[in-house]
Amino acid sequence: MIAIYGKGGIGKSTTSANLSAAMALRGAKVLQIGCDPKHDSTFPLTGMLQPTVIDVLDEVDFHIEDISREDVIRTGFAGVDALEAGGPPAGSGCGGYVVGETVKLLKEFGLYHKYDVIVFDVLGDVVCGGFSAPLNYADYGIIVACNDFDSIFAANRLSLAIAQKSQRHKVQMAGIIANRVDHVHGGGTSLLEQFAETVNTRILGKVPYHDLIRRSRLAGKTLFEMEGPGKDICVQPFYEMADQLLGEPVTTIPTPLNDREIFDVIGGW
Ligand code: ADP
Ligand code: MG
Repeated sequence: MIAIYGKGGIGKSTTSANLSAAMALRGAKVLQIGCDPKHDSTFPLTGMLQPTVIDVLDEVDFHIEDISREDVIRTGFAGVDALEAGGPPAGSGCGGYVVGETVKLLKEFGLYHKYDVIVFDVLGDVVCGGFSAPLNYADYGIIVACNDFDSIFAANRLSLAIAQKSQRHKVQMAGIIANRVDHVHGGGTSLLEQFAETVNTRILGKVPYHDLIRRSRLAGKTLFEMEGPGKDICVQPFYEMADQLLGEPVTTIPTPLNDREIFDVIGGW
């Protein structure tokens, strides 16, 4: 079980969907769970905005026994199953409840142990009690970030959440996915590499900034279904990350910086 975090708009859903697709193409039975009220996590896999578990539960007055698997799970590209947990109503409710109900539902369907991989795509950068809930179930935490200060600041907070959860749960950090890497001008991950080394984690993969990725998202497709120049450099990192995760990925317990320290440390790089 893999939980993917990162600040809003950084590319969590795009990355999650393509990673799920790559693992499925390598032969794994994958379920992707979107944990975001935006409920667009699985759009690249299914080409549709699915109803969320919370929407469906609402329709049956929260009688979990009235829901069938087809109500909430759609099978998408390469046989990846897709589910949108949804979010609590704005200003009330808690993300932890949503995640808890979703896990309960999967157990109810007898599906919780049926997948080789479950990917949680989790919103937000500051992990409140609720949206840290996937870390109670996950084996691996992954952070999506790009090579700028805000993104690294968020990654640091998220590493702290993973480090704290690892004290009471099995979760460990499987690394940082460097997204929107400038492949034309070369490099473009120096800050992230320094950060990863400093907080005892690693770069799991580097995904280029590429128009094909932007277009795939709009088209509701994975990269594997797209055609056009640059396809190889876009899909390659996903195959490589899939192979690492399906094998024995290197994991660590991160040693995050404190919020003050990080300004000084990054300023010096
Ligand atoms: P999140 O789930 O973190 O909020 P999304 O995956 O929805 O972010 O991505 C936000 C936007 O950024 C999308 O429109 C997507 O097309 C674009 N995007 C993400 N990663 C890349 C990339 N590597 N290259 C180009 N565009 C990207
Ligand atoms: Mg998203």
